[in-house]
Amino acid sequence: MRIAGTVQDSIVDGPGFRFTVFTQGCSHHCPGCHNPQTHDPSGGTEHTVEELLERMRSNPLTDGLTLSGGEPFEQPEDCLLLAQGAHESGLNVWSYTGYLFEFLRDQGTEAQKALLREVDVLVDGPFLLDQRTLSLPWRGSRNQRVIDVPKSLENGDVVLFQL
Ligand code: SF4
Repeated sequence: MRIAGTVQDSIVDGPGFRFTVFTQGCSHHCPGCHNPQTHDPSGGTEHTVEELLERMRSNPLTDGLTLSGGEPFEQPEDCLLLAQGAHESGLNVWSYTGYLFEFLRDQGTEAQKALLREVDVLVDGPFLLDQRTLSLPWRGSRNQRVIDVPKSLENGDVVLFQL
């Protein structure tokens, strides 16, 4: 898969210590995006899922995997394997996306829907410059929701994540 990079021990991409994978490629092009270098799908570097899982598992203090970007849902097959690998290791899975939860659930491709079902918490929606905030945890703009995915899928409506 193509990635822009990884971070060990991130404390800003979800609760606890997180292994964050910044996927390469994003078609949303939100004005004011903080990671414009991740937009080009042919940029970044190529890595195997196994290599990334090995890197994630090398730190016993890691609490969870976070898929960020870029747009993780534009590489859904590989991100699904990463998420499954994290769950097999007892780690929780968070993902960022510029898509809305409802779009992925109802109109996503089969691969995107499969990835959504493997994610525990989804921070959804594009970054909107006029709603930019530094005061809300885990989000760059106020429109973005921190969603409990299993409860939302079960409920038929969005249930926000509570710590
Ligand atoms: S979805 Fe994220 S990575 Fe993509 S343009 Fe928007 S803020 Fe940037």
